[in-house]
Amino acid sequence: MRYFIGNWKMFGVPKSVNILNKINSYYSRDKNRNKYRVVITPPYTLIESYSRHFKNKRVTIGAQNCYQKEHFSSNTAAISPYMLKSVGANYTLVGHSDNRGEGDTDPMLKDKVRYAIKNNLKVVFCIGENKIEKKNKKTLSVLKKQLTRVLEKKFDKNKLIIAYEPIWSIGTGKIPLAKELKKTTIYIKKILKEIFKKDSPPVLYGGSVDGSNVEMFKEIKEIDGFLIGGASKTSKKFIDIIKNYYR
Ligand code: PEP
Repeated sequence: MRYFIGNWKMFGVPKSVNILNKINSYYSRDKNRNKYRVVITPPYTLIESYSRHFKNKRVTIGAQNCYQKEHFSSNTAAISPYMLKSVGANYTLVGHSDNRGEGDTDPMLKDKVRYAIKNNLKVVFCIGENKIEKKNKKTLSVLKKQLTRVLEKKFDKNKLIIAYEPIWSIGTGKIPLAKELKKTTIYIKKILKEIFKKDSPPVLYGGSVDGSNVEMFKEIKEIDGFLIGGASKTSKKFIDIIKNYYR
């Protein structure tokens, strides 16, 4: 199974559903549709209405983050995994570099993953090195820490997807060299196998993926799909990624 996950970030109002309607109608008719899953994470404000709209359609709705407590609490503006599930979200991102940059720590991320899984959300756990870490050849050690400090064997592996997103690649148009990315993805899967003592959960790539560079990524069989930011906000750009991936 491959995944095409669109992260809308701070984008979208109710009428933006038209973008997803177009994606859904392509997806419903695509002869390859059973080979992949499309998940879109709109902002919190749209999760309930979009989840209802797509309930019996193919596109799945998720959240971009969740709070590190399970049900209700006195944290202003916080949204728990339980609250997300109750309005129809089926997935949540956790650990996006935007949120790590705003103060999400490993212990917080561990609680987010734990409570999201407990509330039956699929977690897309994001990891990735920054530009300086890459320059100092620290990529693999950074990724290992990000994985081992948060993930535990007892977490349900079937509810986890890992998204490798080098921070220097997000929104910049810069992508890793194929050889390097293959090596990194194999390494991530090796660490995940050590944590879970069996198969690795799926590992996605994210960072400036578009319809023209997806052909390069598809050569790397270890990559199980993509987390897509900018190109998920236009139906044509998002559909082009899927089309070119299966061409
Ligand atoms: C992201 O923010 O998760 C992302 C991958 O963004 P972009 O595709 O725009 O680089």
